[in-house]
Amino acid sequence: MPWPKSVKLDALLLSERSCCVCHQFKGRNIELHHIVAEAEGGSSDLANCIPLCPDCHAEAGHYNLNHPRGTKYSPDELRRHRDAWFAAVSERRRLQASRLVDNTLFEQQQVRLIGSFERRRFAVPPHFLDPEVEGNEGATYWILAIDEPFNFRASSSSRSVASLQLCLSAEQYAAFEPLMGRRVVVQGKLDKCISARHHGDALLWVDDIEDAADD
Ligand SMILES: [Zn+2]
Repeated sequence: MPWPKSVKLDALLLSERSCCVCHQFKGRNIELHHIVAEAEGGSSDLANCIPLCPDCHAEAGHYNLNHPRGTKYSPDELRRHRDAWFAAVSERRRLQASRLVDNTLFEQQQVRLIGSFERRRFAVPPHFLDPEVEGNEGATYWILAIDEPFNFRASSSSRSVASLQLCLSAEQYAAFEPLMGRRVVVQGKLDKCISARHHGDALLWVDDIEDAADD
């Protein structure tokens, strides 16, 4: 019995037309294989279906029990390949969707952001007086003002981020000072602001800063 349309559709979508064993994208050449052969009582439902490329299909299907050579693909092995690949495809789609559709980034995520590298002055505790006014205390921080705000998800909260406070070591301050005022690419790890001494919409623990013109 040929594969029912709905089984075929599910299998093609879940695999994204890539082979479940070697993971190559095969487009129109993808083939659906019965994990347990129909002749041996295998059903034509999704549980018994694995999308394979022609090469892996030949390997999995053409095994001569009367003249055994090599190592046969067992039904369990094929099912595990299939389940692992469907899960990987689904996870990749989830990550792509969260980045491209929602433009969401997460706490502790490694990122690479482009923006302008600025020094900004902020009010400080306990009085938080306007730091631009003569005689008032203030603190200067290094900020990355990014070109396109993103949605930042930390713990259970979510906020839009347009500027990030850069967290650096003493050596990094010295090394990256010459880039101040330029457009830069910053690599690092995202974190949330947790104290009154944190400014910007989020923190970025810096690994590296490069001139965006070199990018
Ligand atoms: Zn293959």
